[in-house]
Amino acid sequence: MAKVSIQNVSKSFGSTPVLQDVSLDIEHGELVVLVGPSGCGKSTLLRVLCGLEEIDSGTLRIGDDIVNGKPPAERGIAMVFQSYALYPHMTVYRNMAFGLKIHGADKAEIERRVHDAAKVLHIDHLLERLPRELSGGQRQRVAIGRAIVREPRLFLFDEPLSNLDAALRAKTRIELARLHRDLAATMVYVTHDQIEAMTLGDKIVVLHEGRVQQAGTPLTLYQQPANRFVATFIGSPT
Ligand code: ADP
Ligand code: MG
Repeated sequence: MAKVSIQNVSKSFGSTPVLQDVSLDIEHGELVVLVGPSGCGKSTLLRVLCGLEEIDSGTLRIGDDIVNGKPPAERGIAMVFQSYALYPHMTVYRNMAFGLKIHGADKAEIERRVHDAAKVLHIDHLLERLPRELSGGQRQRVAIGRAIVREPRLFLFDEPLSNLDAALRAKTRIELARLHRDLAATMVYVTHDQIEAMTLGDKIVVLHEGRVQQAGTPLTLYQQPANRFVATFIGSPT
């Protein structure tokens, strides 16, 4: 059974349709890259998945649960945004532990989770530092660490690397792929960058004007594009 199933989801803002009859299955442990031009509805799709926006129609299923209408905290999803505001006065450790404290985890459990996540992200030597003492790439890893410690059922990344320079972006992209393998995590990764999509995704979903144009492996999209939009978008790096 699919780990995450999006069925016939539509969403409008006022009279503007933003998601139109979107259906998509995400298998357990799969890294799905959602790609498409600016304004095509990528962020909105992530936001309805994690419950920051309600859908007009359709079904959202995670595991055996239908999560339509459930508050974000009950969906078991962690989202990493492009702008990752860390608490400036808190150490890396406390930044990562903060969300767990709110949810009432005990001290030993918090310590275990923070140290495990820090090890996976290679930031275990930075736990006592403050955010201002870190590089941009290190800060982004702390932001990802905050998501990992929650041990979510699903990770959502909304253009998490777009504030980094090209070299660091390439490096972090490789680390994210490793993380995906090490955690055997189910992830949806949004980007408007075709190269990023082609190198990172087990499966790529091309969105245009709120509709899924095609979902498939990078090779399938490249060799057998479903329509002219996919052919042009995948075939011509910007
Ligand atoms: P993407 O992430 O692919 O760039 P978005 O999902 O952010 O696209 O936006 C898709 C469309 O929905 C855009 O036209 C945007 O202006 C519109 N939109 C997004 N959020 C809102 C909102 N809260 N209210 C009204 N319109 C919105
Ligand atoms: Mg967006």
